[in-house]
Amino acid sequence: MTEVFTGSFTQQEPIPEAGIEAALSVMRSGRLHRYNTCEGEVSETAALEQEFAALTGARYCLGVASGGYALGCALRAVGVKPGDRVLTNAFTLAPVPGAIASVGGVPVFVEVTEDLVIDLEDLEAKAGQADVLMLSHMRGHLCDMDALMEICRAAGITVIEDCAHTMGATWNGVASGRHGLVGCYSTQTYKHVNSGEGGFLVTDDAEVAARAVILSGSYMLYERHAAAPGPEVFERVRLETPNVSGRMDNLRAAILRPQIAKLGEQVARWNARYDVVEAGLRDTPGLRQVTRDPRGVFVGSSYQFLLPEWSPGAVEEVVTRCKARGVELKWFGAEAPVGYTSRYDSWHYAPSGPLPRTDAVLAGLLDMRLPLTFSLDDCAQIARIIRAEVSAVYQAAGGTDARA
Ligand SMILES: *Cc1c(COP(=O)(O)O)cnc(C)c1O
Repeated sequence: MTEVFTGSFTQQEPIPEAGIEAALSVMRSGRLHRYNTCEGEVSETAALEQEFAALTGARYCLGVASGGYALGCALRAVGVKPGDRVLTNAFTLAPVPGAIASVGGVPVFVEVTEDLVIDLEDLEAKAGQADVLMLSHMRGHLCDMDALMEICRAAGITVIEDCAHTMGATWNGVASGRHGLVGCYSTQTYKHVNSGEGGFLVTDDAEVAARAVILSGSYMLYERHAAAPGPEVFERVRLETPNVSGRMDNLRAAILRPQIAKLGEQVARWNARYDVVEAGLRDTPGLRQVTRDPRGVFVGSSYQFLLPEWSPGAVEEVVTRCKARGVELKWFGAEAPVGYTSRYDSWHYAPSGPLPRTDAVLAGLLDMRLPLTFSLDDCAQIARIIRAEVSAVYQAAGGTDARA
């Protein structure tokens, strides 16, 4: 009998009871706005920022309305102006070029490697074209961060990290988001903690932090922050920095605090699931797995594999057959963007030069989420289904004939 998977790839776990209790208490108080505090009270938002700063080892942390807002706010806070070019990896999702465009910046796309990280050679070749790199750790794959920072230091490039998929990850023992000048995170439902919408920005730079706080809509209430620089820093920036409201609120902060406290535990659970899928797909003919550098601690909240040099028809056949058995694969090689899988050439507001290496990778790239509601047995079953369908299509095409 052919097995069919019946789980949902979009079903996250419930909010921890402690978060529900804290959220109820915020609602009963009526003080949902982060600056609506009683004398001596530290708001849920301010406490959350302190806790996230401690988790990442950052001096300053700001909670905001979304991950995309954090990216745009970071660009403004480091001084990107309309017309400025901003380097970014071509394999990412729409909020990244969107954030660059939102400040009038012009994305310059950098190639991606078969291991789904930024191509450092191409980065070096393009380093003279911009003063800022917005590095997206897409799908949790971390490049050699020491080598990347060396290239950027030598070229005088400011690095902003998009850690939407690396909250809880580390490179050489340093939290993801702490190599560049600013790290940005999302707390949207499909990321590593869930407040519906939300995000963070962390930095050690006092002026960038102060500008970000003012940008986010603090008016002159910045002294109610607990993970922000002192008033003397705000004195220097407060009248020069516009208000582009995008604050975190106490309700979301209350939901997030218990989740931040158990992030390490969740990372271990995600990685156990990732390992089961990876083991189940090992040595599947025609399928290439992504190699991850042992210097990184990754968060396996999603899984990717390549069908290198397969014809579009054969890749589509795999997607269709897996879907019929309950396994939803997203294909980054489709002609038109579907769901979240848009590709750099579908962002018409940000035209790019040719990226042949990225095109070849994306043409055979398949992606799926691994929510924590999946058991380890579920993950083993998913791998069995993918393995069987990839093998069937590959063999039907006569092995190497699946190739274009
Ligand atoms: C989700 C996501 C973001 C932005 O997060 P939102 O909170 O949805 O704005 C940024 N980058 C990547 C790669 C993402 O997947």
